[in-house]
Amino acid sequence: MTFEDALKAHIRARGAVSLEAFMAASVAHYYATRDPIGREGDFTTAPEISQMFGEMIAAFFVQFWLDDGCPDSVHLVEIGPGRGTLMHDLRRTIAHIAPPLERAMDIHLIEASPVLQKRQRTLLGNGPQWHTSLATVPGGYTLLVANEFLDALPIQQHVGADDVWLERSVRLNGLGGFEFFPPTMNAQIRERAPMREEFATACAARLDQNGGVALFIDYGYAKSTPGDTLQALKCHMFVDPLGEPGETDLTAHVDFESLARALNRDNTTAHGPVSQSEFLRRLGIEARARKLAEHASSPVKGEIESALKRLIDPDQMGQLFKVMACTRSERAIPPGFNDAADP
Ligand code: SAH
Repeated sequence: MTFEDALKAHIRARGAVSLEAFMAASVAHYYATRDPIGREGDFTTAPEISQMFGEMIAAFFVQFWLDDGCPDSVHLVEIGPGRGTLMHDLRRTIAHIAPPLERAMDIHLIEASPVLQKRQRTLLGNGPQWHTSLATVPGGYTLLVANEFLDALPIQQHVGADDVWLERSVRLNGLGGFEFFPPTMNAQIRERAPMREEFATACAARLDQNGGVALFIDYGYAKSTPGDTLQALKCHMFVDPLGEPGETDLTAHVDFESLARALNRDNTTAHGPVSQSEFLRRLGIEARARKLAEHASSPVKGEIESALKRLIDPDQMGQLFKVMACTRSERAIPPGFNDAADP
């Protein structure tokens, strides 16, 4: 039985499922059965566009670690590492610019998909340790990054007007296809992401206990607003989110205001969000691009220039993508988040 048939059989037997359950099951099946990233896949991510992305994140971690007085035992943690490209660039850059940090750190990758774990192992070797949840990563000073992970966590939608709100679910229509219930008509949609908040809270609790920093990079909006942001991508094109469950990249935009609420605990503080463009420029991506272009052939110069544009232009990834950090509250504002540091 295909995943879609199993989902339909489940709905026939047990009734409609919440959008949250539908999304959780679809995303899990999707990643468990393929490597969807890159030109031949369904979507491309920042680390796949250019090594400069990972180099800037490495510079951020190195500066943060220096400012903390060079702790001698560090966990470098990535959640949802995809093909492992970001970690590969992080490790290479840290080894190059901060050998003492490289010696102090061990690497932990949190990846639910066996297919992607295998791919990461091929690129990164046996040095890192793999986990399926943050809970099994040992305690200690932590440098954590999650790029395009939060958008894959399931959301709830509530449909309504005034004070009557119903949770949106997925059921079968007369033709045996999937449909939303209740229909939206003229009603508003509000989104909530309890699983994201839970995850953020767990990260913040970890930083509270052990020190360090978490960096979340994703597409989304800075202020909570009503609206439907559920989307599905296949072969780099938008498709119907209910069309082929488990076979498309089903995501929702991240509400950074509610993420900040989850990260702001008694002893932890959220920083940002700042746009990806601001963040990467403050960390020096333009100078890095010039440096890389110095000795490059002219086709490679062109590639560097276009990768830089994709990462920082406001009409490409620069504005929609945002970066938020979390640290202990007593900690000074981390690099890239401070207006005063703007060139
Ligand atoms: N960060 C990578 C990949 C982003 S795709 C990049 O920038 O290229 C999303 C990643 O999150 C994949 O590695 C996927 O397998 C992983 N993932 C999705 N849901 C997950 C979950 N619930 N637990 C752990 N990993 C998950």
